[in-house]
Amino acid sequence: MRYIEPHAHMVSRVTDDYECMAVAGCEAVCEPAFWAGFDRSSAAGFYDYFCQLTGHEPKRAAKFGLKHFCWLCVNAKEAEDVKLAGEVIALIPKFLNRPNVLGIGEIGLNKNSRNELKVLEMQVDLAAWHDQLILVHTPHLEDKLKGTRLILDVLKADKRIRPERVIIDHVEEHTVGLVLDAGHWAGMTLYPETKCTPARAIDILETCGNERIWLNSACDWGVSDPLAVPKTALEMKKRGHLAAAIDKVIFQNPKTFLSQCAKFKI
Ligand SMILES: [Zn+2]
Repeated sequence: MRYIEPHAHMVSRVTDDYECMAVAGCEAVCEPAFWAGFDRSSAAGFYDYFCQLTGHEPKRAAKFGLKHFCWLCVNAKEAEDVKLAGEVIALIPKFLNRPNVLGIGEIGLNKNSRNELKVLEMQVDLAAWHDQLILVHTPHLEDKLKGTRLILDVLKADKRIRPERVIIDHVEEHTVGLVLDAGHWAGMTLYPETKCTPARAIDILETCGNERIWLNSACDWGVSDPLAVPKTALEMKKRGHLAAAIDKVIFQNPKTFLSQCAKFKI
């Protein structure tokens, strides 16, 4: 089995996780910028985090033969402070030419607040200005549908954004259709407790097809499983999915989307 882990917060994981992923057939891991579990006190905290994502983490992954890529942004959970977000966004352009940076993400909404929306628009503008791919986080709260609709509206309103260069992550049964119909890619997140279990994700795949869709573990500092993607592939095999169909979802699809950034080479 070969696969790409397109969404994992490896700065929160132990080195053994890299080894397990490599043994399971992982060929590349992509790390969107995320909340640390606590709010950073200044833009300097984000600067150091971006240095970690673009400098230190690729070296840690390389020890296990794994390519490491990342995305940069202010995450939705820290987007309530618009002034701080502006300071962080101003830091990002100088990192965009680093060799492992794929684009702007994971931007999006958490509580669907006015300030979050403002910061989302600022970061969509940043991506458009610098012709970057976009990775979007959708809310995990009960407002996922509303949040997804708001995000799609922001993306649609900016005429510079090409839908096929945006992946909307953490889709579920009630949002996947909206995302695909808007021309975007969709990400399904496999979590042991919340979000999609492997069985539920496969049910969704069997319903909506396997075009423009990928699977990820979104493993972070919380309860999560860095091997969720290969475990789901095994579950697909048990349910009779053919090897080529499994390879498409866990390897070819993420490769196709991510290769829109010339730096993504595996
Ligand atoms: Zn994430």
